[in-house]
Amino acid sequence: MQLSKLFISSIALLSISVNALASEVNLYSARKEALIKPALKNFTKQTGIKVNLVTGKADALLKRLESEGKNTPADLFITTDAGRLYRAKTANVLQTVSSDKLNAAIPANYRDPEGFWYGLSLRARPIFYVKGVVDPKTLSTYEDLAKDNFKGKICIRSSSNIYNQSLVASMIEAVGVEKTQQWANKFVQNLARKPKGGDRDQIKGAAAGQCDLAIANTYYFGKMLAGKKAAQKKAAMAMNIFWPNQGDRGTHVNISGAGVTKYAKNKDNAIRLIEFLSSKESQRWYADINFEYPVRTDVAPSKLLAQWGEFKADSINLDVLGKNNAEAVRIMDRAGWK
Ligand code: FE
Repeated sequence: MQLSKLFISSIALLSISVNALASEVNLYSARKEALIKPALKNFTKQTGIKVNLVTGKADALLKRLESEGKNTPADLFITTDAGRLYRAKTANVLQTVSSDKLNAAIPANYRDPEGFWYGLSLRARPIFYVKGVVDPKTLSTYEDLAKDNFKGKICIRSSSNIYNQSLVASMIEAVGVEKTQQWANKFVQNLARKPKGGDRDQIKGAAAGQCDLAIANTYYFGKMLAGKKAAQKKAAMAMNIFWPNQGDRGTHVNISGAGVTKYAKNKDNAIRLIEFLSSKESQRWYADINFEYPVRTDVAPSKLLAQWGEFKADSINLDVLGKNNAEAVRIMDRAGWK
């Protein structure tokens, strides 16, 4: 009895000292500290692996990874939009990872086919319409928004924004370059105003009567509805979601995700952290904190998101958004989308 007790406690001591000596992981995150810190704390609690967190703007962190090269302290890069993760892959700052756990947890279309990056949360980019002003029966697809009856009725942000580039990239995949160009040329003519501001500003613009329809990511709508800013809440309350393209490819979706850096010195710990964030337990929190959907199909969305109803999401592999990005930007430029 005494002997076995002694044995157990020495094993425990041994594992603690190993963790204290060597276990850390360095993370560059384009997600704000509040959106990730509690999950990282949990990770450290469960594994003993210390996480050193650096947060910053997505493009700045990517540049930093590129300029640091082999000397980067970063083991893991977390950012939003598959278009950006693809940029990191082609900038040669990530490496492939193979993990049965990740492959089982994350649907194949939400991770890079070669394992350069893995999606961790999901957002959709649907159409928002003003309640009582727009009959949702008059809405159908993104393509339809190029028709004359929507002239001067649409609010959307600038084409320099990656979310719009990814939306157009998904359309290229569905209908081809030529049809997407024709669509963009007409769609731009239907804008109510010169693109300005972020996604929330499009919803605010519609609620203020400047347009009937707005295109925005779902989590902004969630934040406006649940946040403390009365004016934003009021604007969001005036709007409803319409899920476009339910009769064909589905509504455009995108992800936030993570990739292990090419020169990671703590590769195994970096993989463990992605696996932790993709676990059932983390997924709910990680999605809910930013009003996103879990990437796992076996984790339900939050109550608020569930209220918006189920929808069919475009099922293309999201690496396509990166592959088609340059073409999407050219199309938008030619169409005069500011
Ligand atoms: Fe955003």
